[in-house]
Amino acid sequence: MKVGLLQDCCIRLTLFDIVISASAQQGEVESGTRRKIKRLLSFQRYCHASRLLRGLVPHTPGSLHLLDDDYLGQAAHMLSKVGTWNFDIFLFDRLTNGNSLVTLMCHLFNVYGLIHHFQLDMVKLHRFLGMVQEDYHSQNPYHNAVHAADVTQAMYCYLKEPKLAEQLSPLDVFLGLMAAAAHDVDHPGVNQPFLIKTRHHLASLYQNTSVLESHHWRSTVGMLRESGLLSHLPADMSQDMEQQLGSLILATDISRQNEFLLTFREHLDNQDLDLQLASHRHFILQIALKCADVCNPCRVWELSRQWSERVCEEFYRQGDLERKFDLEISPLCNQQADSVPSIQIGFISYIVEPLFEEWHRFTEPSLLSQTMMGHLHKNKARWSRLRYAHTPSDTQTHSHAEEPEPEGGGGEGEDIP
Ligand SMILES: [Zn+2]
Repeated sequence: MKVGLLQDCCIRLTLFDIVISASAQQGEVESGTRRKIKRLLSFQRYCHASRLLRGLVPHTPGSLHLLDDDYLGQAAHMLSKVGTWNFDIFLFDRLTNGNSLVTLMCHLFNVYGLIHHFQLDMVKLHRFLGMVQEDYHSQNPYHNAVHAADVTQAMYCYLKEPKLAEQLSPLDVFLGLMAAAAHDVDHPGVNQPFLIKTRHHLASLYQNTSVLESHHWRSTVGMLRESGLLSHLPADMSQDMEQQLGSLILATDISRQNEFLLTFREHLDNQDLDLQLASHRHFILQIALKCADVCNPCRVWELSRQWSERVCEEFYRQGDLERKFDLEISPLCNQQADSVPSIQIGFISYIVEPLFEEWHRFTEPSLLSQTMMGHLHKNKARWSRLRYAHTPSDTQTHSHAEEPEPEGGGGEGEDIP
């Protein structure tokens, strides 16, 4: 086992060296500023490497034995309701001692019989999932393993949609869940324009195009190969799975939103989606993952609000970094100018509403879609009220306390089977 961990570490360090030397070959002379930023963004990876060097195994569900039986019982009870839309992933993460992603994925793989179907080795599966969870940066307010678990839980709800569930093959389900779990792995907590303007090595590696998404995908492939999870499958099959995972993860690039939305709308207008076709099912999986990735405003207010504050906190941290290093502050990243409510209203109006309107059309009649649209409209109205009621700095700390909730909470229509 120790030899294996050491090998992992060597592979990781070798990959890291290749990336470093690739950017050095381009003759890029880094300024002190850029080096500092790079060091900051690479902090988690250094930690990870040093943990591996010391032979410490990442958290696995095995660490659950440290928890009180009460917590385990509550976590198990929550898993029995994992398909409900008001599932509280923050609570689940606390009850599982920060292992929400691994625990959730193991549970869902069991629910779908994927371990048996693909003859997966349980040790390799745990190792792979542990690596994925560990490679998320826990210090990111938003892009961390809890976001990945949240997207996976939403994806599970979408895979259960009656329109879809009957048509999906075990491979579709496997890829959908894997892509959801790994779609933001090793996210540095800053966006692509930031990586480009600081000439981060990932930006040059992926030629300034889908930089983060390409990195999430390639990191996932690296971990799949390191863990040997698919090594027992025929080479062409595992290669196809890697490619499909890439196509799903790359679809989460928000700059490609219109491209996907227009195609989706066209299919719905022409009523020509044929879910017997693997290519059409793949397209719907792409759309489902995109929906799951941006579904925060469709959750019940109390969960939705927490995600909103987290994502804005991550934006503001980027803005603070940009200010500190005399870089132009990116849109939405200026805490003094961009309030949480105004960011959320823009996000809902331009990204979430257009996508979910089409998803609602596709899944109709769907109780879940109705519930999501209900929350979306109520949450947007609530942010609109907050936008005018508070100054930007007030909204973050007092939005919850000062705005009594007139809606009936998340009670109605929540318990989607
Ligand atoms: Zn995401």
